[in-house]
Amino acid sequence: MIDRPTPPPIPEALKRAREDFPILKREVSGKPLIYLDNAASTQKPQSVIDAITQYYAYENSNIHRGVHLLSTEATAAYENARTKLAAYLNANDESEIVFTRGATESINLVAHSFLAPLVSAGDEILISHMEHHANIVPWQLLCERTGAVLKVAPIFDNGDLDTDSYISLMGPRTKLAAIVHVSNSIGTVNPIERIIEAAKDRSIPTLIDSAQSIQHMKLDVQVLDCDFLVFSGHKMFMPTGIGGLYGKRAKLDSMRPYQGGGDMIAHVSFDGTTFKAPPYRFEAGTPHIAGGIGIAAGIDYIESIGRDLIHDYETQLIDYAANRLKSTAGVRLIGEPSNRAGAISFVMNAAHAHDIGTILDTEGIAVRSGHHCCEPLMKRFGISATARASIALYNNHEDIDALVESLGKVHQLFG
Ligand code: PMP
Repeated sequence: MIDRPTPPPIPEALKRAREDFPILKREVSGKPLIYLDNAASTQKPQSVIDAITQYYAYENSNIHRGVHLLSTEATAAYENARTKLAAYLNANDESEIVFTRGATESINLVAHSFLAPLVSAGDEILISHMEHHANIVPWQLLCERTGAVLKVAPIFDNGDLDTDSYISLMGPRTKLAAIVHVSNSIGTVNPIERIIEAAKDRSIPTLIDSAQSIQHMKLDVQVLDCDFLVFSGHKMFMPTGIGGLYGKRAKLDSMRPYQGGGDMIAHVSFDGTTFKAPPYRFEAGTPHIAGGIGIAAGIDYIESIGRDLIHDYETQLIDYAANRLKSTAGVRLIGEPSNRAGAISFVMNAAHAHDIGTILDTEGIAVRSGHHCCEPLMKRFGISATARASIALYNNHEDIDALVESLGKVHQLFG
């Protein structure tokens, strides 16, 4: 008989949270939905859905250039999202928040507008072995164009970053140190404070990929003192197609535009064009206005519960999940990092990751299977895919118990 870990108590504020997400009431395969694919995208609370509906039903209009009421209302609502995001991250002010389509576009923006003019052949860009493709491929493309070299810091067998090696790879030619805060595949929380400190000592700019941390813990960019931080709205209870880039104002001021078009210019003539100050310089064309409004509502939602409470609860829940999965017959965890948030990857001899995902779906359980856009990481562990369970504030130990029970069936049937 295996000892079961004690399930974490669910705080009052989070017991009610489940009710706030209408999709969690639906059934899949005739069973109540158990949604454990939050690292791919989180569900949306009613308040976010309502804010978007309200915008399209009563306020819809293009922003920034209109003088009529709808346009000024929509502009105020969109810019309110920027102000809220600046406060959420404790940026110096809202001009340090650039709206993008998400983490991927934010990284590409930094690659094009910040780094491209600074690198030449032989310069180095530093990342780790556990990066999402979004924090690999833009740098590879830049290296291809410039002759710069991508340096990859190793990780240990348990999925922890070899931080000493990462820091020792920072050299006189390192032009950027980029690192994922929390691994989307294996849940490792990286010691970004130490990395940023070491980079600052060597005057190396830093980029933090917070796509998998911003929804699980408090981030304070002034305390962190990173130069750039990227994130996606859809992974934090907000709409798809919008996210952001935090950049230190001095860095943003030094950068050329990313794309050209309307709204990002000060003046245009056929003799030449001048650009607006950041952040608008980086936001060409009509933005995702409804998305911005969804971001503002999403931040209100998270703050109404409290980020510390969410973090404390989720830390207990992910530990509970890791302990339960570890002692489930036939299940092997991929990565047992010393500090974990959000996600757990595993494999089974009984079934390929994709088959696990398909079988769990028949039980109403949504997990992700595949390489999770981390092919180099999969290769590091000698596998091609994992099944991944990832949590959000509305999950509870019953979700984990149901997952474990279903995996037990997979093992019995096919093991
Ligand atoms: N980085 C990490 C760690 C991620 O998990 C993801 C999304 N899976 C991204 C970057 C890219 O995010 P998006 O696709 O929303 O741009």
